[in-house]
Formats: sequence, structure tokens, C-alpha cells
Amino acid sequence: MAAADTDLGRARRARVVVLGGGFGGVYTALALERLAAKGAPVEVSLVNRENYLVFQPMLAEVLAGDVGILDTVSPLRQLLPRTDLFVRELEGVDLQRRVVTLGAGLTPQTLELPFDHLVLALGNVTDFRGIPGLPEHALPFKTLADAMRIRNHAINVLEQASVVQDPEARRTMLTFVVAGGGFSGTEVAAALNDFVRHAVGAYRSIPREDVRIVLVHSGERVLERELTPHLAAYATRVLSEQGIELLLDQRLVAASPLGAVLAGGRRIPTRTLISTVPSSPNPVLEQVVGLPTVRGRVECDATTAVQGCEGVWAVGDCALIPMPGGEPSPPTAQHAIRQAKVLAQNIVATQTGARRRSFAFTGLGKLGALGHHRAVAELPGKITVQGPLAWLMWRGIYWSKLPGASRKTRVAVSWLSDLVLPAHPVQLNLGGARGATQAHYEPGEVVFEQGDAADSLFMILAGTVEVSQRVDGRPQAIGTLQAGEYFGEMALLGRRPRSATTRALTALDLLVLPGADFAALADSLTEFRGEFEQIARSRAAADAARAGTDARAEA
Ligand SMILES: Cc1cc2nc3c(=O)[nH]c(=O)nc-3n(C[C@H](O)[C@H](O)[C@H](O)COP(=O)(O)OP(=O)(O)OC[C@H]3O[C@@H](n4cnc5c(N)ncnc54)[C@H](O)[C@@H]3O)c2cc1C
Repeated sequence: MAAADTDLGRARRARVVVLGGGFGGVYTALALERLAAKGAPVEVSLVNRENYLVFQPMLAEVLAGDVGILDTVSPLRQLLPRTDLFVRELEGVDLQRRVVTLGAGLTPQTLELPFDHLVLALGNVTDFRGIPGLPEHALPFKTLADAMRIRNHAINVLEQASVVQDPEARRTMLTFVVAGGGFSGTEVAAALNDFVRHAVGAYRSIPREDVRIVLVHSGERVLERELTPHLAAYATRVLSEQGIELLLDQRLVAASPLGAVLAGGRRIPTRTLISTVPSSPNPVLEQVVGLPTVRGRVECDATTAVQGCEGVWAVGDCALIPMPGGEPSPPTAQHAIRQAKVLAQNIVATQTGARRRSFAFTGLGKLGALGHHRAVAELPGKITVQGPLAWLMWRGIYWSKLPGASRKTRVAVSWLSDLVLPAHPVQLNLGGARGATQAHYEPGEVVFEQGDAADSLFMILAGTVEVSQRVDGRPQAIGTLQAGEYFGEMALLGRRPRSATTRALTALDLLVLPGADFAALADSLTEFRGEFEQIARSRAAADAARAGTDARAEA
């Protein structure tokens, strides 16, 4: 382990380590830089897994192509010129030894950073555990990479659907399901709806009516927990008028490569499931010994100091900070930014012996974009605005909040050019091998059909698979496979189409090894190849014996 050498000539200053480079962490470091410039005795280090800050409120605009991919990100080195930046994965926090451990970078060594003050600003994470199939098959929407992935995927779907002959397969491909009717869910559904319905104009072979955008929400109206009943009703109506199919009072209970399953058993065949629920606290924090948490959020007092941990502070989505009146601050950027300023001042106050301030912000209002140049706004004083005026406010307010003049210029230019220039639905193929993945199938779903191209090997982690072959056009079961067994090797080794159909008899979890990876292993490991060839031979012999028996029976 190497100690970070960042303390030359700064021995008397308190070393503040900020964990996380989202709104909470970056605005804390910014405020500390400003206070240090005025003589405050602090030096700042910031740890983040990316070297940029993402302006999350505009991620849906990236997805829709209204702004460029990099318009909404700000390089941390430009934003924070006097902060020591560590672009690494945080691996652990030791409150006793007062060090944090960062994971290996390009070299295999981990790194320890000692601190006098520690700021926890790690946000929350998308957590799909608990809903079968969601971790394997749902796309999250939280980061810039998520927005790009969804956009690329939607373009790929249009490309594939334009050459598919089977109308049912095409309609399945062109069905996009979004789960969650909060701010993120409605914004992503609206952006996807605008984008896909516009982009599909370039595909002559796709009937426009085949495109379906479905929003699944557990409440009676979208945004009903976030906005007044009147605005929630307006938002629900506007989304529906734009052609978004709203499945209200419905809950997603499972997902597979073939579709989404709702409570009550309804299935929506789709190749695209985006889920904006649920999010949960950052798992790194769960492992910190001695950190007080309430449902995973770090328990703070009104000064943002962590209860009972001297010199430890928390800010943003990962923190439970009371507002005046005692209610916990909601997880929004506007709260994180204000908490950060209070936090920075209180660190300096602790160093200089001054009085600490309390966080006293309750919120400026709420804004949500609904697509088609519509939005909803709830402002202080119970003022509500809806429609195009609210959309202009949405753009104006978020534009003014973008950090730095260059970001503002880029976004303004993108918005202006979007008004006059045609959209360009270009898919960015970033390549890269995917390696082994997991897949979940619901009972009755087909993993592959006889005659399909062979592209993967499947290992059964849990559940039962039925194997069948068509005899005289009718499917005939030829066996079952259980956890610990694998299938799909015969067609891969023989470089031919699938010779059988495999179907989940129960809920089924698989480890999927891509054909190219299987071939690489089989080519380089003789024993590995030999074992699979042996299995393939005995299965082929069983097939031949069965065929012979059938032929004799017919004779
Ligand atoms: C799609 C979307 C739209 C939103 N729209 C709005 C809006 O319109 N208005 C509003 O007020 N709020 C909005 N929010 C909420 C707002 O973005 C969050 O409340 C805010 O970003 C919280 O800031 P944070 O610093 O606490 O966490 P984050 O912004 O999540 O930052 C956490 C940082 O920690 C880093 N990190 C986490 N774990 C590790 C690790 N182990 N190692 C290294 N780095 C790590 C992450 O990479 C990230 O950079 C939106 C959120 C989303 C997802």
C-alpha cells in the first residue's frame, strides 16, 4: 500500500477528504476552496470514480438528443483547480485509523488517504435486487453512461426492427417499458417517447403504430407523491395524450430477456425495460464500522456532522440531515448544494473554534419535464405552473444552474441547433467484450428454439430446463436439466444451429457464456474442450438412439 504524498508544506492545515464527486461532494470542495482562498486552514482531496460532475437533471435531454453527450458534464479538474483529485474506486473507510482506502488503478496497488475531516458524499445507488430478473435485464437511469446506453439501445432496436419480417417480433422489439412514475421515470418515458417517435421517421419499413412506450406505475397518477394532485393529474393526462401507454396501479414483479411481468401475471413482451426504482444507500457505507445509519442513510445533526463521529460529515442523498421542523432533507440536488455550503463552513468553524451553523433550507420548488415542450412546476407559496410556460421555466432554471459559462454556452448552442437542424440518431458502438452475464427466465419462457443460431453456452444456477425436439412438426420433450448442468454446447462445438428447444420449467437463473469466449476457452484448454465434446457426443448418441426408436416404432 502506498500513502498519498500530498502534504508537502501544508502540515498545519486540516486535511479534508471528500468522498464522492456529485453535487454534494463537488459543492463541498468548491466552498472549501473558496474558504481556503480567504485563509481558512484546510486542504481538500476529493475521491470519485469519474473525473467529471454530471448534471443529472438534464440526463433525459442527453437521452433524447436535445443536448450533446458531453454538454451536461463538467471536468472536476476545471471545476476544482485547488483540490487534489483521486479518480479511483473507494473501497473502505476506517474511522478508527482515520484513513480511507482506494482501489487499484492502472497499477495493482491500493492507496490510503489519511484525513482530519471526512465528508461522505457518495449518493445512492440503483439496486435491482429483490425483483427476479431486474438486475440482469433492466436498464437503470442514473448516470451519463446509463443515458447513453439507453439511447444506443433504442437506436439499435430501430435498426433491428426495420429488417425483421415477423410482425409480432417487430412489435415486441418496438415496445419500450419504463417502470416508475416518479420524476426520473416520467422524464425518461417522455424523453424516450419524443426521441423514438421522431427517429422512427427515418425507417421506411417500420409502421409508426408499432411503437409503444409503456410506463408502469404503482400509483393512480404519475408524480402523485411528488406534486399536488392537480399537477399530478395534469402530468398523467399530458403523458397519455402524447401516446405513452400508462399502466397505473400496477407493479413490476419480474423481468426476463423476453419481457416484463406485472403483479397479477400480466406479461409485456419487450426487449427494453428501464427501471428508475428502487434506489438504495451506497453499499460502501454499510461496511463502515461505527457509522450511525437509518435505513442506510448516514445520521447527521442539523450542522451536517455525523452523530457521535468527531470530524465526520455527510451531505446529499446518502445523508439524513434534518430540515427546520425535523423532517429529513429530500434527496435532491438543490438540497445537496445548500447542505454542502453549510458543511464547508462548519468544518472551518470547527478548525477555528467559531460557532457552527445549522442547515435551514426547505426547498425552492419542484420541476418536472413531460416531453413535447410541456412541464410542471410547483413553486414556493403554493404557486403551480404547467404546460409550455413551465417547460420554459424548466429549461431556464436548470440552464442557470449549470456550472460554468462553457457548460451554459454548449447547452444553449445545442438547444438552438436542435430547433433548426435535423436530429441524428447515430448509434455509438463502443465495442468491448461483455464476458459472462447472468439471465433470468420466468416459467414457460423459451431460452432458445430449435433452428436458432448458436451464440452462447448456458450454465444453470437455479431452476429446471425442459429440452424438446420437433418430431413431425410437433414438439416432443426429450429431457430435463437441473442446477449445476449446462446446455448449448452441441451447436457451438458443431458450429451449427440449435438442434433442440429449451424452455424454463420453473423460474430459471442462468450464467451465459458468449460463444466467442467459449471458443477461446475450448481452443486453449484441451481438458475443457474434451469434457464438453464428451458430453456433446453422449447427447448426440442419445438423440440418434431416440430417432432410431421413433423410426422403428413408425415402421
Ligand atoms: C435522472 C435524474 C434526474 C434528477 N433530476 C433532478 C432535478 O431535476 N432536480 C433535483 O434537485 N434533483 C434531481 N435529481 C437528484 C439529484 O441529482 C441528486 O439528489 C444529487 O445528484 C445528489 O447528489 P449527491 O452528491 O448526494 O450524489 P450523486 O450525485 O449520486 O454523487 C455521488 C458520487 O459518488 C461517486 N461514488 C459513489 N460510490 C463511489 C465509490 N465506491 N468510489 C468512488 N466514487 C463513488 C459517484 O460516482 C458519484 O459521482 C435527479 C437524479 C437523477 C438520477
